[in-house]
Amino acid sequence: MKTRNLSKSQYCRGKKCKKSLWLYRNKKELADTPTEFMQNIFDQGTAVGELATDVFEEGVLVGEDYTETEQALSKTEILVAQNVPAIFEAAFIFESVLIRVDVLRNNNDGTWDLIEVKSTNSVEPKSHLDDAAIQKWVLLNCGIIINKTILMHLNREYVREGDLNLKDLFVLEDISEAIQPNYVLIENELENIKTHISLPKEPEELIGAKCKNPYLCDFKSYCWAEAQPGTIHTLGRISDKKRHELMDMSVALIEDIPDNYKLSTNQQIETLSYKNNDTQIDLKNINNHLTELKYPLYYLDYESVAYAVPKFDGSWPHKHLVTQYSLHIQETPSSELIHKEYLHNKNTDPSLAITERLLQDIKDDGGSIIVYHKTYERDRTGELAAMLPKFQDQLHGLIDRMWDLETPFTKRWYWDKEFNGSSSIKNVLPVFAPEFSYNDLEIKKGDTAQMKYGEMAELPEESQERLQIYNALLKYCERDTLAMVIILQKLFETLNYDQDKVAV
Ligand code: SF4
Repeated sequence: MKTRNLSKSQYCRGKKCKKSLWLYRNKKELADTPTEFMQNIFDQGTAVGELATDVFEEGVLVGEDYTETEQALSKTEILVAQNVPAIFEAAFIFESVLIRVDVLRNNNDGTWDLIEVKSTNSVEPKSHLDDAAIQKWVLLNCGIIINKTILMHLNREYVREGDLNLKDLFVLEDISEAIQPNYVLIENELENIKTHISLPKEPEELIGAKCKNPYLCDFKSYCWAEAQPGTIHTLGRISDKKRHELMDMSVALIEDIPDNYKLSTNQQIETLSYKNNDTQIDLKNINNHLTELKYPLYYLDYESVAYAVPKFDGSWPHKHLVTQYSLHIQETPSSELIHKEYLHNKNTDPSLAITERLLQDIKDDGGSIIVYHKTYERDRTGELAAMLPKFQDQLHGLIDRMWDLETPFTKRWYWDKEFNGSSSIKNVLPVFAPEFSYNDLEIKKGDTAQMKYGEMAELPEESQERLQIYNALLKYCERDTLAMVIILQKLFETLNYDQDKVAV
């Protein structure tokens, strides 16, 4: 029987988790379907890879795909023999490990450089080094002499001005030394992998951080079926050490965690909410936080887009560009809620237009700017200030007024077990207002909004599809600030907080 090849990505998958590789080769139908957002990231990676080849003059592509392995191997052999300046997607196989090399650069001295292209802004040791190491192992065993192993990634320092400068857009980082520890493990690892993939049944693996880092495993839904609300897996920031210790002790539910088991302060509060079946409230700290509020209250939420390859002047790879905001304004405790919004509807840099509108809508009156998860709005506003010196003082003034509605939940001053281990707005809101939801919206999540904006910006201005995305984006962002209004109001009510204490 013909042996099935092992690709380099399968090697990396198997090194991370044997079960993942076994499932991938035997029960692929159990894998999660990539979300549109994930697919968009893959597509951006492919586009960056194609752009990278333009840096190498006279390179030749081995265009045969994965169904034409034999042809790809033969064509590569010919190109190596012809001593061409560079080969893209060169195919090599050794002991059934099949690789396609992004770029094989000819040094014209009998050696080649192995170049792996990534669309990140830096080397990510947990995922990139194994990827390069296995390629080097196959190449050396195929008789190709490798001088340097290089990771070609996007350059965070590159700021676009005018046409793209490809030489500056990419950094070629020599990782020859860095891959050595990964390289020396390859033969043992391969033996181990080959043993596991030939098993008749999926190997046992404990779930843990590896299922999410450095990337989300596509079998997570299958393996994490046991991680239901109330189980130890939903304890906030549980480490693998604790997760596995508790599993060894046959503790499945949070309420069964022994009282003397060492947990972080936040985890202790979460555990108490299960054991006592009540909401944990630290009134003193919440009150102190609420007394920082000052009317008018401005509830602000941004959405942004991040292009791997900078699209506009003044941008760098993966820079977040704020594309829209929603703003609910409550001038006094009894006044009607006012809604303002802006969504940049042109295929241009939104930064100036959004800043001008934001500074019109948020008055210089010292009112609190309520955000949820402050670092995001703070950092985006700071980036706008750095880009637009004329508005620097005003934008920094907005940052100074930001008040984080998430704080009572991140610090566990208010904790309901139904938050299910997370202070994210999507977990907190349904507890305060079960009737309020995002389900009726076309766009329900921030990552989808980001992707849809990129899609919308490329559509013809008059198109119906563009208008539909535009409206869906407005509705999504508005729902986020409305959710914040509801959460604060419910917090006031639940705590019997006298809103007159909030300064006007
Ligand atoms: S979800 Fe975790 S345990 Fe399951 S296959 Fe993926 S990495 Fe392995």
